[in-house]
Amino acid sequence: MTSQLNEVSAPTRKYVERTHHILIDGVWREPTGALVDIIDPSTAERIGGFYSATREEVNDAIAAARGAFDRGNWRGIAPAARAKILWRIADLMDKNAQELAELEALDGGKPLAAALNGEAPAAAEAFRYHAGWCTKIEGRTFRPSIPGLDLEGSTRLEPVGVAGLITPWNGPLVMAAWKLAPALAAGCTVVLKPAENTVLSTLRLVELICEAGVPNGVVNIVLGDGASVGSILGEDSRIDKVSFTGSTNTARSLIDASKGNLKKLSLELGGKSPVIIFDDANIDEAVNGAAEGIFSNAGQVCVAGSRVLVHRTIYNRVVEALCDKARNLKVGRSMAPDTQMGPLISAAHRDSVEGYVVKATSQGAEILCGGKRTGDEGYYFEPTVMADEKTQSCVWSEEVFGPVAVVTPFDDEDDALRLANDSDYGLAASVWTENASRAQRVMRKVRAGIVWLNCHGIPDMAMPIGGYKQSGWGREHGWKGVEAYLEHKSIMQRIDNI
Ligand code: ADP
Repeated sequence: MTSQLNEVSAPTRKYVERTHHILIDGVWREPTGALVDIIDPSTAERIGGFYSATREEVNDAIAAARGAFDRGNWRGIAPAARAKILWRIADLMDKNAQELAELEALDGGKPLAAALNGEAPAAAEAFRYHAGWCTKIEGRTFRPSIPGLDLEGSTRLEPVGVAGLITPWNGPLVMAAWKLAPALAAGCTVVLKPAENTVLSTLRLVELICEAGVPNGVVNIVLGDGASVGSILGEDSRIDKVSFTGSTNTARSLIDASKGNLKKLSLELGGKSPVIIFDDANIDEAVNGAAEGIFSNAGQVCVAGSRVLVHRTIYNRVVEALCDKARNLKVGRSMAPDTQMGPLISAAHRDSVEGYVVKATSQGAEILCGGKRTGDEGYYFEPTVMADEKTQSCVWSEEVFGPVAVVTPFDDEDDALRLANDSDYGLAASVWTENASRAQRVMRKVRAGIVWLNCHGIPDMAMPIGGYKQSGWGREHGWKGVEAYLEHKSIMQRIDNI
């Protein structure tokens, strides 16, 4: 096994190998809980470790965020001053993009080029986009209709308070930025808990946030697993809101845990997103889009296009072309320049993906290409396409979160919509057609929080994203995403007429 640590820049290597601390009230502290290994999924090598936060340490982080919110030294500063700091965070991220991308490649398994050209700039952009909102958070005035009283009604928007931010491992840097930036723009203080498999880029981001001048106690970070650390954020009544991205089952635990103080919850959960390809589509583009939709980040993407629905007249052609793409994808280590698809996050996750494929086969689905683990080291799984016309297997209905597409033919528009909506999830969908009216008809009837036409999986900070059905509560991005960290206060003023 050749360590990928030999292939990253010296500052990145030094960063990975150092002792990792947690940030509480502006002070980096060594946590005292259990030791957790940091594993490079490309090689299965232990590249470092960190100590989890204990319950007392998580309590201290929450107390720090509560204290900073109550003191008002973040929500109270001029909105333009907050904007300036958010902008500075983005500039610092750009300056350190190589290091951030290398960290993302090391413990997340993301191909370096994708991390450098995609993740790192996108995460910085989240702070720039939200810097713009700081000065545009405004209420309204109106004239109430109460007989005999001259009244002025107005609404004011205030930060919701202390936000617990819980992020997943599949895009740690971007996910942290997508939560931190709107929370900070709104004036909240936060306790952030990254996923235990991928702490490195988030820790570095928090260092840059301190360097940018965010006051002590406003951003706190704790490390550890969901059951012992994340759950405390769900339970604690000093936290006003939790924003969570992760699995639907964990969301259910959070809903239970948050009952104590009925804290607000934003939940960005799983999906089983359909890619609907009509016979009038540009087939080459549709196949490229379908392949990228399921194989980018090895399918570990909440909006992955995991169900590919194809008009029966072009089914064989599309399926053949998709399998061809799958077979030719270069699967490899995250630091190798020619890698197109990296590893899965962990051995356990690779076993889970494999388990789905085996079970689906026993339920009648057919493997058309791939279907096996691969590689001598690390946690690789072949880009896989399965056919399931009966739509009764687990790969049709359950989120695999791996590079496994299930293909199914449809006969007409109604049939396509029936299949597309045959899911407990409703996060995303894409429609591939050159017929504008058909595109509109289908996009209106698909039950999904975001629908792409002739493209798939492209996020934009101005475009709210979130789920119908069991894909979540609330939206991230755009004004909706900022509003999720705000309370609306109505004010009624009596005007005395003299
Ligand atoms: P996945 O199955 O994809 O790992 P999870 O929902 O388990 O997704 O994890 C997403 C995030 O939620 C991670 O940061 C994880 O540590 C955290 N988490 C897991 N369980 C809980 C829980 N019971 N309460 C709060 N956070 C949790």
